[in-house]
Amino acid sequence: MRTVSIFGATGSVGMSTLDLIQREPDAYQVVALTANSDVTGLAEAAKATGAQIAVIGDPARYGALKAALAGSGVEAAAGEEALVDVAGSGADWTMASIVGCAGLRPTMAALKAGGTVALANKESLVSAGGLMMEAARASGATLLPVDSEHNAIFQCLAGGTLEDVARIILTASGGPFRTRSRAEMADITPQQAVAHPNWSMGAKISVDSATMMNKGLEFIEAAYLFPVGLDRIEILVHPQSVIHSMVEYRDRSTLAQLGSPDMRIPIAHALAWPRRIATPCQPLDLARIGRLDFEAPDPERFPALRLARQAAEAGGAVPAILNAANEVAVAAFLSGRVRFLDIAMIVEEVLNRYSAPAPHAIADVLAADAAARVMAGQVMERLTAC
Ligand code: NAD
Ligand code: MG
Repeated sequence: MRTVSIFGATGSVGMSTLDLIQREPDAYQVVALTANSDVTGLAEAAKATGAQIAVIGDPARYGALKAALAGSGVEAAAGEEALVDVAGSGADWTMASIVGCAGLRPTMAALKAGGTVALANKESLVSAGGLMMEAARASGATLLPVDSEHNAIFQCLAGGTLEDVARIILTASGGPFRTRSRAEMADITPQQAVAHPNWSMGAKISVDSATMMNKGLEFIEAAYLFPVGLDRIEILVHPQSVIHSMVEYRDRSTLAQLGSPDMRIPIAHALAWPRRIATPCQPLDLARIGRLDFEAPDPERFPALRLARQAAEAGGAVPAILNAANEVAVAAFLSGRVRFLDIAMIVEEVLNRYSAPAPHAIADVLAADAAARVMAGQVMERLTAC
């Protein structure tokens, strides 16, 4: 029996993880499930899995959670400190699938506790990659990438060593607007932006895929997870999302990982590693797919790619600033306050106007994140005033 916790259990990745765990109830004992505000979803999942504790991020929902769990034997807790405490109390395996930098402190606590951390929450790694990798080294925690591209790279790296890598080729679907001109992107609505052609995901990452900031964040994520040097990480657009990424070794042998676009495949890999488990996912039918296409990314139409590369090259607090500005801009786009093309513009403006010293502790990252959010708010005020 393995003890597992899921941070962000009510989200897209969290529910896919629950789906896999519930298919093998005898193999896992659920310690903690968490959510931000969805009391009903959290309480139902906690009762169905017999979790020990359910934590709701929003403290105002504590009463509702307690009521929803009454008589179930599941303990209720609320607030960010409770999330951090529970993450640090050490399940054997923790899924970090909170969206955004909000996941940083719980993810760090899980890494410090030294178990296995399956990482979907890329924003935490983008913001504090150096500190997170150091925490994992210090505690002996195993960090397994769940993002499909990074999970693919991790699998391809079983075929060699980092020293022998010539290139990491990070594939990108190109998102729903891959073939659109900038002019055609001007009037994109949130509804159009969240409709990804291949993957079903949460709203924030879907918008990131549409701007290609997702690939920019993944570029930074790859740089921390697989330190081969930024010049050895390339982005390749592959619209079918069948090859999830590739590793080319210096002998020019290239390994790829393929699969249906279903997050349960990389999650199952992280759940069973170093073994494998059966999943209900579709087998890959290459004859039906027929062809695989590739094209170079276009940083002119998708400036987020350029901004993320700049942030990775600058290092220090700059990736955290990029991420925070992007989170604010995406939320504003989803609520109709700014337009699609404003997102990258806001991020660029914040990067130009604000810098912070390289972080030595999580508090430094959180301070840079907070200041970048304020700055992004000011940039948006100016934008909406004109
Ligand atoms: P989602 O929006 O569907 O779910 C997010 C989860 O985080 C929910 O359970 C929500 O309650 C919780 N949450 C949100 N804000 C919170 C806060 N302030 N405090 C505590 N909890 C909070 O998102 P998702 O699509 O499941 O993505 C989760 C993470 O995984 C993101 O970092 C995303 O980039 C990454 N990821 C997702 C996919 C995918 O297919 N969905 C693929 C690769 C990586
Ligand atoms: Mg991905």
